[in-house]
Amino acid sequence: MNANLSGKVALVTGAAGGIGAAICSTMAANGAKVVFSDINLPAAEAMARATPHAMALRMDVTDEPGVEAAIDAVVARHGRIDILVNNAGINTLAHRVNIDRFPTEEWDRILRVDLTGPFLVSKAASRCMLDSGGGRIINIASVMGLVPARLQCAYTAAKAGVVNLTRTMAIELGCHGILTNCIAPGSILTEGTRQLFYGEDGRFNDRVKGLLAHIPLGRPGQCDEIASAVLFLAAPESSYINGAVLPVDGGWLAGYSRDF
Ligand code: NAP
Repeated sequence: MNANLSGKVALVTGAAGGIGAAICSTMAANGAKVVFSDINLPAAEAMARATPHAMALRMDVTDEPGVEAAIDAVVARHGRIDILVNNAGINTLAHRVNIDRFPTEEWDRILRVDLTGPFLVSKAASRCMLDSGGGRIINIASVMGLVPARLQCAYTAAKAGVVNLTRTMAIELGCHGILTNCIAPGSILTEGTRQLFYGEDGRFNDRVKGLLAHIPLGRPGQCDEIASAVLFLAAPESSYINGAVLPVDGGWLAGYSRDF
């Protein structure tokens, strides 16, 4: 799809990752001035260099003073922020275990990035949007914020938090012209999921058949398919969508079975 984002300033967190990079390139292709932010500055810089009108900055979404400094840097450069995509997120790799063995430090690490991160960045960015009269905030949650999954208690709890944070932001900020929505991706093909599931040596690739059997489209999603949904929610035409949670999951949730 195409949308006219010309002149809009779009800040994307976790921009150096698989889905973040696709969101940035889709936004840029539709005219936005994209701010690539990531904890990994060299990777964000390399991407921004290849993108017209883009800038890169280091932002660790868990560090409140750093987040505020990064937002100030965007405002100093562009004067405003029109679109924020809270995309940065992590999950546990080393601790795929039930809650009775789930390390508390791992719980804290994941909650801090996946839930406190969107809170901190939204808090700082929404102040600019209030000053300029509106904006769009798009949170990237997960199908696992809508249905439970074993062995990932921190991730499922954090993403469920993002879903309800989205709705709270929608009712607090909507009357000020800031529309907040959320995308719940299903299983998306990225370097991370290739290493876990989809590559030949994926750690859990014995489970791929079972996973795909629960997805009516029978395949993982592509990063571009998430980016297109973000573009839809950022587009001027989506002006009456606020507080929505949009699964982009090939039908995973429609056919959800607790056996997986
Ligand atoms: P990814 O490839 O791992 O990218 C995430 C990016 O965020 C990485 O560049 C990572 O940097 C960065 N990051 C990590 N901690 C950060 C922090 N504290 N502050 C700022 N940036 C930080 O992940 P992805 O698969 O593209 O996922 C993007 C979003 O989609 C996440 O919110 C994820 O939960 C969600 N999602 C993904 C899938 C999927 O199947 N891939 C499914 C559902 C939802 P480092 O690499 O240096 O850590």
